Amino acid sequence: MAKLKFDNLPQGNPCAQCGKPISTPEWIESGPRRVSYLWHCWACDYQFEAVAFFEQDVESEALAA
Ligand SMILES: [Zn+2]
Repeated sequence: MAKLKFDNLPQGNPCAQCGKPISTPEWIESGPRRVSYLWHCWACDYQFEAVAFFEQDVESEALAA
């Protein structure tokens, strides 16, 4: 599976299937320390979700869960 990594901007993410850039996520869900993005490629109609983590204490959150 392709590695998805976000730095800051959730824009211009390449399609996981055909590689064409997607300008903006179709749907965004914000969590306490993360944001889930649903991307929809206009070129091949492929949809995929990616999660971006904000803070560094993702590990502690995982341990607490
Ligand atoms: Zn595509």
